[in-house]
Amino acid sequence: MDDDASTDVFDVVSQATRADILRALADFHRSEGADARLAYNDLRKRVGERDSGNFTYHLDRLDGLVEGGADGYRLSRVGMRVVSMLRSGFLDTDWTWGPVDAPGECWTCGDDLCLRYEAGALHVTCGDDDHALALYVPPSFLQSQPRDVVAERAGFLENRWGSLTRAGVCSECSGRVKGELELWHGDPEHYVYHGDCHHCGFQHVLPVGLFLLGHPDVLAFHFDHGVDVRTVPFWTLDFCEPGAESVVSRAPLRVRVVVEAGCETLSLTVDGDGEVVETERT
Ligand SMILES: [Zn+2]
Ligand SMILES: [Zn+2]
Repeated sequence: MDDDASTDVFDVVSQATRADILRALADFHRSEGADARLAYNDLRKRVGERDSGNFTYHLDRLDGLVEGGADGYRLSRVGMRVVSMLRSGFLDTDWTWGPVDAPGECWTCGDDLCLRYEAGALHVTCGDDDHALALYVPPSFLQSQPRDVVAERAGFLENRWGSLTRAGVCSECSGRVKGELELWHGDPEHYVYHGDCHHCGFQHVLPVGLFLLGHPDVLAFHFDHGVDVRTVPFWTLDFCEPGAESVVSRAPLRVRVVVEAGCETLSLTVDGDGEVVETERT
């Protein structure tokens, strides 16, 4: 599939009546089930379009997103994905939310943290923009998840990002990600895993700890201490803090991350490709 086909979908759904048709069908499926079909006149009524010629024209333009015939209309799988995308609100860069208290403390200054959504990202922030972390969850996440679990579930999504990247899968398009450890010249200077999506071009840059969070040894270590680390916001975990890793050797590159729980430690050594080459539990 080329980029043009996707651009065409944006063209098709940027028209208000067509977007309304898709939303009306999604609402219908929510109440009647995925296989239910809506008759032409009922669909037109739900959309509120009086001009049937105009309505038919727009309905025809939705070929591929809407399946239709004499027995009525329903969304195709692609149509449903388009509605989910429209309703996620991720294109609405003016939308704002919060602030809401967040667990943990700022890695830079130690102050309390809050979550605030603005400019298309959920920021974990102490109030100083230079210290903030940006999480890419859409407005729909904040509109529909209960407030008291937003931090935990946003953490879960970020942790999944680490696992997907480690597995070579792009969190944005599911394309192939390949990358390596890189020295990041931030403050502090620290190692990151930098993954490049060969399909969409997204650049995945993660602290080494977050990159390793979903590793089976890290999961098992935490499970043994009664913690499901997949649901722990990574910004509350010491081993995910930028600079928490140590350099074992530079040629070949070997970086070590030490995870602590109770009186135990788990030490993981990764090579320049991000492969775990040694683990030690003491
Ligand atoms: Zn701060
Ligand atoms: Zn991608």
